[in-house]
Amino acid sequence: MTRRPEISRRRVLSIAASAAGASITGAAAAQAAKVPQKIVKYQDTPKGEQRCDNCDLFEAPSSCKNVDGTIAAQGWCIVYRKKQA
Ligand code: SF4
Repeated sequence: MTRRPEISRRRVLSIAASAAGASITGAAAAQAAKVPQKIVKYQDTPKGEQRCDNCDLFEAPSSCKNVDGTIAAQGWCIVYRKKQA
């Protein structure tokens, strides 16, 4: 008969808690990485031909890789970066 290594219930719970903590921290870091709209002077109207839906940072349908909150396709902000063809 082979003896299986034992792992305590406490050890299992500890590992699970660490994993959960790591994912919460990761999500918080991702959220914190976005800049508030006010800081980048976001507006929900375009600036000439510059608009979110032709910005490299836009994520359809209504978000941005850099700016927090709901982003309009026809919006604009000072970190606009023209999408490369
Ligand atoms: S213009 Fe600003 S808010 Fe709009 S997608 Fe680009 S970086 Fe985001």
